[in-house]
Amino acid sequence: MLNIDLHCHSSISDGVLTPTQLVERAKFRGVETLALTDHDDIAGLAEAQKAAKDNHIELINGVEISVSWRGRTLHILGLAIDPKYTPLVEGLATLRAGRLSRAERIAAELKKIGIHDSLEGAYAYVGNQGIIGRTHFARFLSEQGHAKDVKSVFKKYLVKGKPGYTPHQWAELSDAIDWIRGSGGQAVIAHPGRYDLGKNVMQDLLNEFRALGGHGLEVISPSHTLEQVNFYAQHARAMQLAVSCGSDFHGPNESYYDLGQLPNIPAECTPIWYNWENNS
Ligand code: AMP
Ligand code: MN
Ligand code: MN
Ligand code: MN
Repeated sequence: MLNIDLHCHSSISDGVLTPTQLVERAKFRGVETLALTDHDDIAGLAEAQKAAKDNHIELINGVEISVSWRGRTLHILGLAIDPKYTPLVEGLATLRAGRLSRAERIAAELKKIGIHDSLEGAYAYVGNQGIIGRTHFARFLSEQGHAKDVKSVFKKYLVKGKPGYTPHQWAELSDAIDWIRGSGGQAVIAHPGRYDLGKNVMQDLLNEFRALGGHGLEVISPSHTLEQVNFYAQHARAMQLAVSCGSDFHGPNESYYDLGQLPNIPAECTPIWYNWENNS
């Protein structure tokens, strides 16, 4: 079985390792095919490709695009994209600019509850000045002792209903899929089990996603229980969506799955990589 991991983050977004360190770790852990999927940014791909060449592993160009759909945030992975495709490049630049203004709003919310200078604090954890996210705030707040770890900071401060949360408008689902498809890539719904959608709403999402040209469902994810894996595998088969698998690795101490230790995709599912050049 191919050791393949199609979802992870470098310091270009909210991962801890540089693209080179990430590829080296993947190689060391036996990964044969890796996709780098930073949030709303593809600036790490050139470095990752070089490291992949040096380390003799296959690197798939990827991205994880933040989308607003029916008032919720969804993540759509783009796999095997062309990082030079202008609409994708420009769309992602707009999303990153939005992140900056959201970060200012998050800092303003935190200030209201007496947490000062969190924007500067979060920026100290940013690896790429062009992109800032909640994880950077979480690392700062955790370091400052506001909660015991990054996960607890999210629960206490950064999710809907908590004092540091602020709503935000991300990309349209149709735009994200168009950018990905237009660049020759495949759109995949990341960790569907994370969105807490009821059965009917999930079905609506899958129908809409498919009608818009979406291609796959990330069935294997650290966000999923075994029941969810089976549930989404069944949906993928029923909807003729391909299946993807990814560790969503962010760093050695923050991730549930490390690179290269994913379970196999369930039987009778079509792997998203079935028609990729080197793996067909
Ligand atoms: P953002 O795109 O800036 O809103 O941040 C989303 C990122 O925050 C995700 O990709 C995860 O890395 C992280 N995240 C979201 N929720 C949690 C959570 N409950 N615990 C830990 N990390 C989380
Ligand atoms: Mn993340
Ligand atoms: Mn995600
Ligand atoms: Mn991710």
